[in-house]
Amino acid sequence: MGKIYKTLLFDGKISLSILETTDIVNEAIKYHNLTPLTAATLGRTMTASLFMASNLKNEGDKLSVSVCGDGVGGHVIVSVDSSLRVRGYIDNPSATLPLNEKGKLDVKGCVGKGRITVCRSMGLKEPYTGSCEIISGELAEDFAFYYTVSEQEPTAMALGVLMGSDGKCLSAGGIVMQALPGCDDETAKRAQDIILKYQDISAQIQKLTAKGIAKEHFSGYYFTERNAEYKCICSSDYIDSLMISLGKDELYDIINEQGEVKVECQYCDKKYVYDKEKIDKLFDK
Ligand SMILES: [Zn+2]
Repeated sequence: MGKIYKTLLFDGKISLSILETTDIVNEAIKYHNLTPLTAATLGRTMTASLFMASNLKNEGDKLSVSVCGDGVGGHVIVSVDSSLRVRGYIDNPSATLPLNEKGKLDVKGCVGKGRITVCRSMGLKEPYTGSCEIISGELAEDFAFYYTVSEQEPTAMALGVLMGSDGKCLSAGGIVMQALPGCDDETAKRAQDIILKYQDISAQIQKLTAKGIAKEHFSGYYFTERNAEYKCICSSDYIDSLMISLGKDELYDIINEQGEVKVECQYCDKKYVYDKEKIDKLFDK
């Protein structure tokens, strides 16, 4: 289970969120056979996306995040709903690169140059889409930049995924501070300086857990706690409706060529197979 802890600092001028996403990254590794490099890339993106979704106001709201760079991993797509159910995938899950000059996983090389796009769907209202350039590729700086330029909310963020030698994630998570309306420059600077102390956030989570960081480093503050999980919301009903929208003729064409219609969910690799009988039944309903 993933966790998000939130509180307010400095007379309510700064919001602080601490996320632990180790289990979520391990689920993604299981679904997609990720390498340590792609696990770190998808894991950081899922952590930032969960933070974004934790700010959604209404039940049923959801958002999708696309990190579209020209690095070896290809595009990274993550989708989260207001209940903090997250799912995601990376185009090239088997991508690898040598460690960077700091001896760390080269997430920057995995992401490359390009754009981050965030699309928020909120009930009947038009979806909101924001976007910014990828300025670093390490992702924490990029998502902080996204908030600052696209949402006008000055943000500082650290993200981390620590991988074990067995290919499993040892710890993952992030820490985010956002300036709220009325925040002065001096307070914003103080928040930024605090985030600088968490550049090895995954190691700190491994040592203390996110809850421990909240308790020991920010003692005296009241934190709210929420659960998050890796969960795909695809279902046979949803795929049925997708089939119907394609139309009977199109589906018959595929069956004549390939014998069956196969749909694979990109988020959880679940396979949905339709033969002629199943398609006829679908359209008889
Ligand atoms: Zn699925």
